[in-house]
Amino acid sequence: MKTIYFDNNATTQVAPEVLEEMLPYFHDLYGNPSSMHSFGGQVKRKVEEAREKVAALLGAHPEEIVFTSCGTESDNAAVRGALEVVPEKRHFVTTRVEHPAIWNLCPYLRKRGYKVTELSVDRKGRLDLDEVRQSLTDDTAIVSVMMANNETGVIYPVEEIARMAKARGIVFHTDAVPAVGKIPLDMSRSAIDLLSLSGHKLHAPKGVGVLYIRRGTPWSPFLLGGHQERGRRGGTENVPSIIGLGKAAELAMKNLREETTRVRALRDRLEKGILDRIPNTLVNGDPESRLPNTCSLSFEFVEGESILMMLNDLGVCASSGSACTSGSLEPSHVLRAMGVPFTAAHGSIRFSLSVYNTQEEVDFVVERLPSIVERLRGISPFWKDFQEGRPIALGRTA
Ligand code: PLP
Repeated sequence: MKTIYFDNNATTQVAPEVLEEMLPYFHDLYGNPSSMHSFGGQVKRKVEEAREKVAALLGAHPEEIVFTSCGTESDNAAVRGALEVVPEKRHFVTTRVEHPAIWNLCPYLRKRGYKVTELSVDRKGRLDLDEVRQSLTDDTAIVSVMMANNETGVIYPVEEIARMAKARGIVFHTDAVPAVGKIPLDMSRSAIDLLSLSGHKLHAPKGVGVLYIRRGTPWSPFLLGGHQERGRRGGTENVPSIIGLGKAAELAMKNLREETTRVRALRDRLEKGILDRIPNTLVNGDPESRLPNTCSLSFEFVEGESILMMLNDLGVCASSGSACTSGSLEPSHVLRAMGVPFTAAHGSIRFSLSVYNTQEEVDFVVERLPSIVERLRGISPFWKDFQEGRPIALGRTA
């Protein structure tokens, strides 16, 4: 059975060109970039080349690029490193829809005496810029707002927010993990101070990330050790993966147009095909401002996990907006923050595409999904209540 992979916001296939670029650095060219000898020196040059390629993708200077182990590390290093240098400031501003790599810092910081503001979003997942402005105080050390949401694809006005922060002397960080390679970036004309990205979301391997640190940003290293990364991140470099990420950045620049045209067209075809064929289906997020590859849909009155399992039986990979916690299926914090009704949040599915997807794959899902949802609704007591005009037993919001 052929796999149809529509879960690219979870992780992506390593591009063949990326793998090819990496392979020699596992066996023939295994030197340590910190070594004095030329065997290590040639590896160092290749790491620096990768840094230049990542910088080019971001419109940044190479020395502003720090290689890390993943997006989670970059997020933690950004926020905790910025807080560390201003111990007198005790306020952190973020949103209710961040990835756990940022969101889980909220209880952590509260426990340590910080005031944390989690900005709310509306039903389409959008922030209110007035609320953002009002949240900033003289005590605010850092604001962290994701560039785009990994579940819904909603794109946030991070430049406006970064400028608001800058005007008040506050550091601004953005988690750009799902956005890099899908929307154009130019840090040379940006007010963003810190930015996180992760290799495995853009066809590089897992276990490598980047923290962009604008020159002059007050920040303190999170991982102390050797002098690697100009003393900003100790630890021997993950050389093959860094080299792979450099190649992936080069490919992402080349593929940006395709992401915003062909991949967007495929996503739109998938979404329209499903909405035309399956009644009581809602789009989660702001259709006006979304990543070109992401589509989050809620199929009312069915469980997303059941849909996923039946898609899985057909070789189709997607993901749901629920997280199985302590035996109960809770809708994700993102859909809860958006106030998606309980009966819809439970039936949410995220499809996330890549340049490797085809129209045949989209058409296969559009053709097969209606009968899956119909079968599941056939055994759903909520659907029966709804069809027969009875009040739905679980008529609360998620
Ligand atoms: N931030 C966002 C928005 C993400 O989607 C992810 C991963 O899904 C991360 C951070 C964490 O990245 P990593 O898996 O590289 O730690």
